[in-house]
Amino acid sequence: MEKVLVSACLLGRPVRYNGKSLTVDSQYLDKWQRQGRLVAICPEMEGGLPVPRAAAEIVDGQAGDVVDGTAEVITIAGENVTAPFMSGAEKVLSLCRQHHIKMAVLAEGSPSCGSSEVYDGSLVVGQNCYIA
Ligand code: SF4
Repeated sequence: MEKVLVSACLLGRPVRYNGKSLTVDSQYLDKWQRQGRLVAICPEMEGGLPVPRAAAEIVDGQAGDVVDGTAEVITIAGENVTAPFMSGAEKVLSLCRQHHIKMAVLAEGSPSCGSSEVYDGSLVVGQNCYIA
């Protein structure tokens, strides 16, 4: 049975920057979990970042620009966390290859997990649910 990658916070794991989760109520996730198909991971923790941690965002670019080395990931405190973010992304990629992942359920808005929308700093940090 094919495995499904999932952002760990969506399964209720308190791995977000603020020590909380982004639990979703999904019959599909429940079913896949019962079937043992879910591969849960938090790329930011895999990259060595702690919980809680300072919220971070991609500055001057998109995720692809970070991979290309033309943009960085910076915390609200001004710390450059590009290296742990890249490390986490590489570990997730390795996990995807290991499990032959073709489908993923990811937390939108996160600089690590967001797939079609990533928080861009236009909202006040701490008052939205986008930064994960
Ligand atoms: S959205 Fe953030 S907290 Fe959730 S799994 Fe991804 S990196 Fe971890």
